Amino acid sequence: MIEIENLTKVYPNGKRALNSLSLNIHEGMFGLIGPNGAGKTTLMRILATLLTPTAGRVLIFGKDLQTPEGKVSTRKSLGYLPQEIGFHLKLTVEQELDYFAILKNITDPKDRNRQIDNVLEQIGLRSARKERIHTLSGGMKRRLGIGIALLGSPKLLIVDEPTASLDPAERVHFRNLLFQLAGKRIVILSTHIIEDVNQVCSDLAVITNGNLLFHGAPEILLSQV
Ligand code: ADP
Ligand code: ADP
Repeated sequence: MIEIENLTKVYPNGKRALNSLSLNIHEGMFGLIGPNGAGKTTLMRILATLLTPTAGRVLIFGKDLQTPEGKVSTRKSLGYLPQEIGFHLKLTVEQELDYFAILKNITDPKDRNRQIDNVLEQIGLRSARKERIHTLSGGMKRRLGIGIALLGSPKLLIVDEPTASLDPAERVHFRNLLFQLAGKRIVILSTHIIEDVNQVCSDLAVITNGNLLFHGAPEILLSQV
């Protein structure tokens, strides 16, 4: 579980991107909805330990992100897929996964190979293993991004607004993949499009201007609009 208590982020220019936000996130698939500028990326980057909040507290699986120990253990149990991910376009899918596996400190080549097999199976890219990345479709690239985030079998997967560059069929495919992955972990998916999350997420939060507007089941949200 993730416990977020009175979380505030004020950027150095004075912009208040999160305003005393409190929220608990449980296992399964969680949708974070809000318009551009709502604070979604700010919240996800704080959860991913890439950004320090101005005030408030975050516990991830019981570990406090304010403590060095909490940061280290969270980094180990986390996969983060940013909105824009820079691939090495000339590498093959397998080489790219191997590169990121090394960055994640998976030092044993046999272990890396086993994890790459496993990840390719999960993201449905086994047949593209030897393909160069520049030949992949947008949807396949997005799935490869998930594959990179899955190396090390994280218990928490954070995916920032993934659907922007995907066509409708790719979006459905991507959404279903995340849904499957949420079986035994927390998956957080941010979007400004409610259709991306209302069918796959068991729990939703809506934020605007750094404030929580709604938290609850999709059926309840949809009955309110
Ligand atoms: P979202 O992901 O929902 O689009 P963001 O978290 O990216 O929202 O941004 C929330 C607000 O904070 C926006 O107004 C954005 O312009 C501002 N912001 C984001 N990053 C910075 C930064 N590094 N410095 C100043 N303001 C920022
Ligand atoms: P998002 O698409 O999530 O809203 P943006 O495209 O707004 O993200 O932000 C991209 C990058 O620019 C981020 O690193 C963010 O922190 C930074 N940024 C966003 N808004 C501002 C701002 N007003 N001042 C400084 N940096 C910003």
